[in-house]
Amino acid sequence: MKSGKLIVLTGPSGVGKGTLVRSLLNRHPKLYLSVSVTTREPREGEIEAQHYYFVSRSRFEQMVEAGDLAEWAQFAGNFYGTPYFGLKQGIGEGKWVILEIELEGARQIRNNFPEALRIFILPPSWEELERRLRSRGQDSETAIARRLVRAKEEIEAAGEFDFQVVNDDLEVALKKLESILNLVELSGN
Ligand code: ADP
Ligand code: 5GP
Repeated sequence: MKSGKLIVLTGPSGVGKGTLVRSLLNRHPKLYLSVSVTTREPREGEIEAQHYYFVSRSRFEQMVEAGDLAEWAQFAGNFYGTPYFGLKQGIGEGKWVILEIELEGARQIRNNFPEALRIFILPPSWEELERRLRSRGQDSETAIARRLVRAKEEIEAAGEFDFQVVNDDLEVALKKLESILNLVELSGN
């Protein structure tokens, strides 16, 4: 996997990872998003193979058994994982592959691919994180509560990452991410 660049983007649910990644992908054709497999039900408007590969629990377990996943984790009652075929495809196309994943998966990637660049996205405040989770209007109160519990644990681990970016003003956060990626290019890591 050394031939390509692997970029891990982590941060609490609702912090704006998906929003940031979509903007980055629109602006930089060099970037490629690894589409994850999940057992979560699709949200309204989510498209198969674009947002996720939506699979049953038994299919997910089969993929784990077969060694098809580069990492996987349980999050708020569902399973999520990164299929190797996405990584291979992106790297085969000479692109920089972005994994938008939670903390446990990011730790597995650090162990398996130590060369990966790991970035943690922070909210400007706890109140704003809660507001964003609710304003998305896509998760039940139970799902939001589970995500907030997990968010506390994740934020405490932000220091494990190579870079921390606060997503307050979206444009400022995007610029910071772009500058981090350029720095990596310049240093040839
Ligand atoms: P995540 O992928 O981290 O769960 P999303 O990208 O779905 O988060 O964003 C959660 C909500 O916050 C969405 O409604 C999104 O429009 C909003 N959001 C994202 N970034 C910002 C920002 N910088 N300022 C205000 N709202 C934002
Ligand atoms: P959501 O249900 O909001 O789409 O995602 C919940 C959490 O799962 C988010 O923190 C998201 O980054 C994470 N996630 C999405 N795909 C993967 C994956 O393939 N592996 C891991 N470990 N986490 C993922």
